[in-house]
Amino acid sequence: MKSVNIVLLGPPGSGKGTQAELLRDKLGFVHYSTGEVFRDHIKRRTPVGIEVEEYVTSGRLVPDEVVLEAVNAFVSEHAGARLLFDGFPRTIPQARGLDRVLEGHDQAVDMAVLISLDDDEVVKRLTSRRQCRKCGRIFNLAFMPPKRDGVCDDCEGELYQRPDDNEEIIRDRLGVYHEQTEPLVEYYRERFRLERIDGAIGRDRVFTELTRLVADAAGQD
Ligand code: AMP
Repeated sequence: MKSVNIVLLGPPGSGKGTQAELLRDKLGFVHYSTGEVFRDHIKRRTPVGIEVEEYVTSGRLVPDEVVLEAVNAFVSEHAGARLLFDGFPRTIPQARGLDRVLEGHDQAVDMAVLISLDDDEVVKRLTSRRQCRKCGRIFNLAFMPPKRDGVCDDCEGELYQRPDDNEEIIRDRLGVYHEQTEPLVEYYRERFRLERIDGAIGRDRVFTELTRLVADAAGQD
């Protein structure tokens, strides 16, 4: 299997996490979500968790140096596998940092995929999003509900609502996205390959599109 490194871009709630889980389970990607990594540190009360908690709960960006240190360790451990970055990079310095780290392993970003979604739809989706505390699977009460209320279909873990998924913080996160993360679309369009998928077409159709793009990127050298 050819190694293909992919960056998933898009506003919060556009479905990056859900698609990343599918790409991991069905196409063998190693999935790296900086948000999940930080939430895990916070839960375990590690020094990193204590440092980033205030940022994560208020929807502000964790400083680039902290993020890049975590990513560096991850890439060193997994270089050569199919890497999938979800929620990272979120700023231009982070994108440059990722390029440097990958270069150190003779690798590069092969493709960035933007999953787009408009702001009102993001708010609608995120206020009804629920996640499993145990396995991390994502549900949505409006269009992807669990079979039993409050219980994960896969592992029977408890479903919870992320504290940063309330409307006021979602609006702040969207502001941060437009200001700091959206410029990355241009960054990847100029330097690497950028593809766009409309996140409103639904989980299964987005995944079909992604599968086709990955096959295409894997076939190119
Ligand atoms: P997410 O799960 O991707 O929505 O991320 C949740 C929160 O974690 C964000 O609102 C930020 O506070 C923090 N975070 C996640 N990824 C990054 C990143 N690449 N750079 C800075 N902060 C991040």
